[in-house]
Amino acid sequence: MRKKVVAGNWKMNLDLSQGADLATGINKHFMAEPLNGKEVILCTPYIHLSIVSSLLSAPGLTAGAQNCSEHKSGAYTGEVSAAMIRSTGASSVIIGHSERRTYYGENDALLASKTAEALRNGLRVIFCCGEVLSEREGNIHFDIVKRQLEQGLFILSEEDFRKCIIAYEPVWAIGTGVTASPAQAQEMHHYIRGLVREKYGKNASDDTTILYGGSCKASNAAELFANHDVDGGLIGGASLVQDEFCNIVKAL
Ligand code: PEP
Repeated sequence: MRKKVVAGNWKMNLDLSQGADLATGINKHFMAEPLNGKEVILCTPYIHLSIVSSLLSAPGLTAGAQNCSEHKSGAYTGEVSAAMIRSTGASSVIIGHSERRTYYGENDALLASKTAEALRNGLRVIFCCGEVLSEREGNIHFDIVKRQLEQGLFILSEEDFRKCIIAYEPVWAIGTGVTASPAQAQEMHHYIRGLVREKYGKNASDDTTILYGGSCKASNAAELFANHDVDGGLIGGASLVQDEFCNIVKAL
């Protein structure tokens, strides 16, 4: 059975006390209104992870990171390893967010290494894929997503692949206020599930959680989540506002 998941990506926002306040508020909310099998992951900056992990006690509510090093340990100034992330109590990590691909030049091969290192350390991977606007306009968006998945994720064994969540995030929808239509989201999610079926078989594809990300908010979440192949969302801006975020989870 595939999981219904909402993950918040705080990006580089909130100082430590603001992050702790937001996590405390969200935890309180889901203590009072249990998630009942749904999962919520707060993907915070590294420095928040330890305190946020210790603040979360509501069943189904956990912390995650937004990136990790492909290296195990050593002389990599400024980097944070998957083992360090795991040691904070966090259990997930986003890999391949378009901002990492674009601003930090993270390519498919690097992302494959990061994914493998995260899995080796017991982290669940939220693997992002998605096309930029010119690729959609050029009608090559399916090819782009296929390449990203084949080279970054489908190198895994089925056992490891099953520890991953896929997040489809059309880059033109991230932080722009322009959301993919429910039909566009469903079309791509259905395509992705088909790719998973070809690679890992029907059972694995039925069990794969595929999130939509890109200007998802409380007012449009329900229509996106209503689609058969959309199993939740990866939420950026709206994850920084408690009521907005909790209402997105409610829409799931
Ligand atoms: C994201 O950064 O993953 C994202 C989906 O951002 P936003 O919701 O702000 O578009």
